[in-house]
Amino acid sequence: MSFPIHDGTPIRFPGPVPAQADVVVIGAGVVGVMTAWFLAEKGLRVVLCEKGRVAGEQSSRNWGWVRQQGRDAGELPIMVEALRIWKSLAQELGEGLGFRQTGVMYLAKTEAEMAGFEAWLPHARDNALDTRMLTAAEALSMVQGAAAPWKGAIWTASDAKAEPWVAVPMLAAAAARRGVVVVEQCAVRALDLAGGKIAGVVTEQGRIAAERVVVAAGAWSRLFLGAHGVKIPQLAVLASVAETGPLPQVFDGAACDDDFALRRRADGGYTLAPGAEHDFFIGRDAFASFGVYLPVLKKDFRSTHFRPAAPAQYPDAWLTPRRWAADQVSPFERLRILNPAPNRATLGRVQHSFAKAFPGIGLPPLRTAWAGMIDTMPDVVPVVDHAPIPGLTIATGMSGHGFGIGPGMGRVVASLVAGEDPGHDLSRFRLSRFSDGTKIAPGPSL
Ligand SMILES: Cc1cc2nc3c(=O)[nH]c(=O)nc-3n(C[C@H](O)[C@H](O)[C@H](O)COP(=O)(O)OP(=O)(O)OC[C@H]3O[C@@H](n4cnc5c(N)ncnc54)[C@H](O)[C@@H]3O)c2cc1C
Repeated sequence: MSFPIHDGTPIRFPGPVPAQADVVVIGAGVVGVMTAWFLAEKGLRVVLCEKGRVAGEQSSRNWGWVRQQGRDAGELPIMVEALRIWKSLAQELGEGLGFRQTGVMYLAKTEAEMAGFEAWLPHARDNALDTRMLTAAEALSMVQGAAAPWKGAIWTASDAKAEPWVAVPMLAAAAARRGVVVVEQCAVRALDLAGGKIAGVVTEQGRIAAERVVVAAGAWSRLFLGAHGVKIPQLAVLASVAETGPLPQVFDGAACDDDFALRRRADGGYTLAPGAEHDFFIGRDAFASFGVYLPVLKKDFRSTHFRPAAPAQYPDAWLTPRRWAADQVSPFERLRILNPAPNRATLGRVQHSFAKAFPGIGLPPLRTAWAGMIDTMPDVVPVVDHAPIPGLTIATGMSGHGFGIGPGMGRVVASLVAGEDPGHDLSRFRLSRFSDGTKIAPGPSL
């Protein structure tokens, strides 16, 4: 079976683009969709431009975990709000979202891992979460049929899950019903500037006049912003995922150890992924940002498979142009959907780890395998801030955990764009942290 959203997926929102809007949002992943949603709620005229298909990239390819557990202290209050929003979305849109609070469990194989989990508990307490440590016996009583030598776990019962490739297109359709003009197959080629300020955007379908623009372009944000002189040290890593068909239930929620991660889907199958392994394509951006990534690289070095070059047309492929004219085809139209081949060897190891942990099930047959390019930042937290160009706001670099927090980020970004108090301290996410001498402090990679 092929991944559900691809180049052949029918275009549901063909356009045309209107000539004018109050705000143009670039990128229809969960962050762009929810930003557009909350902007429309404020009565603003919003156009949401997507170069490929709604949720074609990270927002459909992710594991579907909606977790507070293990988050950076700066993100946690926004995530608590995001969970409230998910609940109200589920009430409004129904079961199709797949939203259920079935909990998130991280299992530890060593005492050192247990100590790492425990060190995060004060953040849970500060935000009144129901997170607690589990003994080995408690964990095994909740994960049926497991034979793994776990020392214990950290568990947040109020954490949740949703079905990414169903949920985000549903949210986009609901945003359209609220008045957002969603346009697929509509790459934004460039910002249109007048006197140094935002005057609109140039899309492949024509110009849209607007005084405010939001860049929520996921793994393409660095390329897009860089063409306008706005530098962000964003990179992308390849993460492989697979799904099984229906299998006996071992756990209804989402769980992981350092070998594999699982989430039981609404159809009774599991979404499986490696606990830590990923692939990384070396390119010009990687060289330019090497120094600032050293702290995370030191932690992740052994779980990263380095590859000499990204496939052609990828944001950091060696031959991808960094500048282009607005009246010519841009890199965003040359590659509508980032659809990297998954690392089959990694997924083979995941199958074996699963079989070892659940001998009663054995080697799980994989129905579909895919990969996504995770947009990450050196401190593993996003940039959510106004850009140095008046009228431009950036919401990107969700660093592998933007699906769950997406609705909360959308609400926050909409407030920023509208010039209102976002209701949370966003200083951790400011763009200037990479240029004002701040020491880069990676968030917990729990
Ligand atoms: C394998 C994997 C597992 C993950 N697991 C989880 C998880 O369990 N829980 C969790 O919370 N998060 C998870 N994440 C992270 C999460 O999926 C992302 O953080 C989130 O989806 C990012 O949303 P986004 O809207 O910022 O970006 P995206 O979903 O990548 O959307 C950006 C969109 O912008 C479009 N675009 C780019 N440039 C242009 C342009 N110039 N013009 C028009 N459109 C443009 C792209 O086509 C794309 O559709 C995972 C990610 C991956 C890949």
